[in-house]
Amino acid sequence: VSREMKPVPTQIKLPGGLNIGDGQLILMAGPCAVESLNQAMTIARAVKAAGARVFRAGAFKPRTSPYSFQGLGEEGLKILAKVREETGLLIVTEATDHEVLDLVEEYADIIQIGARNMQNYRLLRRAGQAQKPILLKRGMCASVEELLMAAEYIMAEGNSQIILCERGIRTFANHSRNTLDLGLIPYLRRETHLPIVVDPSHAAGRRDLVIPLAKAAAAVGVDGLLVEVHHQPEKALSDGPQSLYPRQFEELVNELKAMNLFL
Ligand code: PEP
Ligand code: MN
Repeated sequence: VSREMKPVPTQIKLPGGLNIGDGQLILMAGPCAVESLNQAMTIARAVKAAGARVFRAGAFKPRTSPYSFQGLGEEGLKILAKVREETGLLIVTEATDHEVLDLVEEYADIIQIGARNMQNYRLLRRAGQAQKPILLKRGMCASVEELLMAAEYIMAEGNSQIILCERGIRTFANHSRNTLDLGLIPYLRRETHLPIVVDPSHAAGRRDLVIPLAKAAAAVGVDGLLVEVHHQPEKALSDGPQSLYPRQFEELVNELKAMNLFL
């Protein structure tokens, strides 16, 4: 995955002519989890109207508590397929283990590997055999070497379509859920040819910090933003407090346009 091996930046070519890593900022937005067809479709229409090209939502959710909502599973994937059909948005959704990756691969355009699974080597190897791009999230306590080695596991199995994602790391800060490591971005640019995306939502853990962090990430120069949006965050089954209202997502897009960071 190093620049030494391949000096030219990798571009991830997706259906519909979408190209991640070509210098344009790609917006990926949606709820934390698929909750129902109506919920997913409502949010998808709103984020698409604002400028998103990829819909994010988990059907398999890696929750801290085993008693929390775990996702709709395959039913959720079917809803995501309907969202793609209706809206033309591409789908990024998480595979939580190597067994569900088969199923996720059938439905997703981009397969997400979550922060908690960044060093799940069996899952990484299986992702390396997939025919779809992988969005690899940095573990919340992972060093840059560990992140790049996790990507190396995927690449070593033959899949070079990898997008790296910074989503905040654990620090002593208690004003936010995690700490967004923006310094990682220019460092990664130098070290790797892979495209880089930032998730300000899981970094912040609270809605009021998401827009400024997203703008900062775009200013540092990322290939995409992964943002949680919910039309009724107070009723969301997961991560409501950090989900933007659709009008806030629109506001973010307008601010990015005003900064000439989004076309
Ligand atoms: C997510 O994006 O839905 C998610 C669970 O994020 P992370 O793995 O970064 O915690
Ligand atoms: Mn979430």
